[in-house]
Amino acid sequence: MNSNAYTRLQELKARLVEISDINAAAALLSWDQMTLMPQGGADARGRQLATLERLSHEKMINPEIGKLLDGLQPALNELPPDSTEAALIKVATRDHQKAVKIPTSFTAEFSAHTSKTYEAWARARAEHNFKLVEPLLEKTLELSRQMANFFPGYQHIADPLIDQLDEGMTVAIIRPLFQKLRSELVPLVEQITSQPEADDSCLRKNYSEADQLRFGLEVAKRLGYDFNRGREDKSPHPFTTSFSIGDVRITTRIKENLLAEALFSTIHETGHALYEQGFNPDFEGTPLADGASMTVHESQSRLWENLVGKSLSFWQFFYPKLQAVFPNQLTAVPLEAFYRAINKVERSLIRTDADEVTYNLHVMLRFELEIEMLEGRLAVKNLSEAWNELYRNDLGVLPSDESLGVLQDMHWYSGTIGGYFQSYTLGNILSAQIYEAAVKAVPNIPAEIAIGNFEHLHYWLKENIYQYGRQYTTREIIKRVTGQPLEIQPYLNYLRHKYGELYKL
Ligand code: ZN
Repeated sequence: MNSNAYTRLQELKARLVEISDINAAAALLSWDQMTLMPQGGADARGRQLATLERLSHEKMINPEIGKLLDGLQPALNELPPDSTEAALIKVATRDHQKAVKIPTSFTAEFSAHTSKTYEAWARARAEHNFKLVEPLLEKTLELSRQMANFFPGYQHIADPLIDQLDEGMTVAIIRPLFQKLRSELVPLVEQITSQPEADDSCLRKNYSEADQLRFGLEVAKRLGYDFNRGREDKSPHPFTTSFSIGDVRITTRIKENLLAEALFSTIHETGHALYEQGFNPDFEGTPLADGASMTVHESQSRLWENLVGKSLSFWQFFYPKLQAVFPNQLTAVPLEAFYRAINKVERSLIRTDADEVTYNLHVMLRFELEIEMLEGRLAVKNLSEAWNELYRNDLGVLPSDESLGVLQDMHWYSGTIGGYFQSYTLGNILSAQIYEAAVKAVPNIPAEIAIGNFEHLHYWLKENIYQYGRQYTTREIIKRVTGQPLEIQPYLNYLRHKYGELYKL
């Protein structure tokens, strides 16, 4: 790189760091809003967040950034393709080009609309009445289409929305994967649910909040979550957020009559946090310090939550410790019974409570509904009925009211319609593919887990995935790590093996 290019790169970095600082301030305000802020702060907080979002967007679309990036394109030919400098130029170019396509006035309108919709959704859900939020959701659909149309040339109208969080993923890639998965899962669920039901009453005793919190923290620490660079708080919906590589926070939600809730949400968010704490420290303040995509992020939370956290080897180590914390509740419950309880498969209504096997059916039907709405084949006023129809078809259950149906998830009421749900299932598929590659490379990982040693797995993930942040695209990461494109077989093998044993299929 010549000295001109070097100077340009330094200036570009300085501008990107400013944007990252504004985004971090916004993230901190959001974190506070969801954990500690008194209700009275809501209006002002919405305004403050909108201001920061506008500032960040304005800085990103500044023509000076465009000029710097143009001037840096020739350097891309000289830089080694695997260098972080090349990655920074490529990623910043993509971000800039995407951002300039969305007018600032639209961003402001969209953000004002979604905060109104979110409030209305909370009321609608409390009153079990979709009608209360329906007109706002119609507007959301219109705005989602408008958003997609800022990116002309797409093959499917959902593609630009999906691309925002899952770069390179398209309906054409996702649909066949989902069709195959659905066609395998529906009969598997049928097979499992025709067996005697697993008994999970041991999870539904009284478990004190303080003890649950303490145990969850102990688990997170053992998995490798660095509490010098993180912390855990409570919030109505668990999430992970970060303000720098040195400050990556998680939240949890505790139910005293349901042990699985906080336990597995903590492991899930720890998976997200391990990823973010594992970025190359040199990426600090740049757009490279982020997950490669929602799918890769979710593959990490799912890997730790399910493939590790719901495995028998994991509990061979942790169960005696859990029994020691809750002797009255668990002393009489053998390990195998506990293992069966945490992996109970049942047809249920609520996505976030669903087991591994049925979970993807919940997600895929949402994806289908989004596609139908975006294509104009499904009107918002018919959404609730369409939702119920799919639940009856795919899961064999029917919500008794709309809070357990179409109003259960906040996604459509706090963002676009389309672009988010697919990543949950893609993340599940990818988690198995990655774990298979990890165990192939380091065969003693499962044995190490059984004695409470997670370092080999954590180190392998850090080396192969975490450290790179956004340096590689999702497809590049999958190819580098597994040697294959995203494929469904490892996930199906995993489910069939585990649940075949559990339910003696
Ligand atoms: Zn997650």
